Amino acid sequence: MNEILDLATKISKQYDLPEWLVISGPIAMFFILIFLVVITVKILEPTYRLYKEDLFYDVIWRWRWKGSDIIDLWCYCPTCKSMLFVDDENCKTTTNLNEKITFFVCHECGESEKGRVRGGGRRYALSVVKRDIAAKVRNKTFDIYLKR
Ligand SMILES: [Zn+2]
Repeated sequence: MNEILDLATKISKQYDLPEWLVISGPIAMFFILIFLVVITVKILEPTYRLYKEDLFYDVIWRWRWKGSDIIDLWCYCPTCKSMLFVDDENCKTTTNLNEKITFFVCHECGESEKGRVRGGGRRYALSVVKRDIAAKVRNKTFDIYLKR
């Protein structure tokens, strides 16, 4: 510690600077550097991480990001915002892709159908929506400020 003070005194005499400036200067520089690193990390964070809700197939979809993966994807009622019930029973009785339909049904709105995905069951519907989200991220056509 004494060596540092001696050095500070030497520098302050040599450059005709007040001693407090010689000591506090590097400390201030250190904090400014940390501040700049934090700001840079924030700026470089991809904006698609803020894209967590959108409308597909007439219903609201919400999800979270884990790295670049979409997790916890589920659909919600555009009218009352409740979680929707997924009905894909018809997919078990047919092999015709055109007849395979996943219905999104709201219990709160009198069991009414809010939307549908044609071509497969719930796993298919979720993968289709994930693909749509990924396409919007890729083409940068998503809107993080859209309120529903
Ligand atoms: Zn509803």
